Amino acid sequence: MIKGSIISLKQINSAAFTVQDELFKVGLWFEGCKLVDTEIYRCPVSPLSLYDADGFFIHGASAVQKILGFEPGHIYIPSFVLSQTFWQSRASLRDVIRHEYAHSFAHHYPKLISKSDFKNTFGDEYYSYEPIKMEKDAFISDYARTMPMEDFAETFMVYVRRKGIMPSTIKNKQLIKKWQYIDSLIKLINK
Ligand SMILES: [Zn+2]
Repeated sequence: MIKGSIISLKQINSAAFTVQDELFKVGLWFEGCKLVDTEIYRCPVSPLSLYDADGFFIHGASAVQKILGFEPGHIYIPSFVLSQTFWQSRASLRDVIRHEYAHSFAHHYPKLISKSDFKNTFGDEYYSYEPIKMEKDAFISDYARTMPMEDFAETFMVYVRRKGIMPSTIKNKQLIKKWQYIDSLIKLINK
């Protein structure tokens, strides 16, 4: 995504369509799946932080966010690309949407995410805001290193993009464990 560019509704819808088809292929898009109920809204700019400048998910809305019309449980894509930090420059709109659906999954399936296997896999609980000390190769991207929820979302993003087929370049045992964790979540919700 390029700094200063405007994201149109058409671009969002086209990217969302591609990602939803991928979600269908990996078993995350069916009637009754909470991801289907997640809306993708276009908004002027991110009210959160520069890290969320390309897209964000609202887990819980603050009083100010509520006044601004942001509702928990949905994905928001700012129409104006305000910033471009090191990790955002590589992200496509599709990748942003894939990433935000991971937060939606965690939001709508809190019981699955709060089990001890999340902590065992990502180093701490989903809502822990501290970076995790793990070797660099255990993370799928630089942004994944910021905190467990972002690690989960980045891994999920690549998982969906690759339609669940693990790239042969992934050799790190901990990273394989993260990939397999997503496999196990999908199996659980398809029971
Ligand atoms: Zn995120």
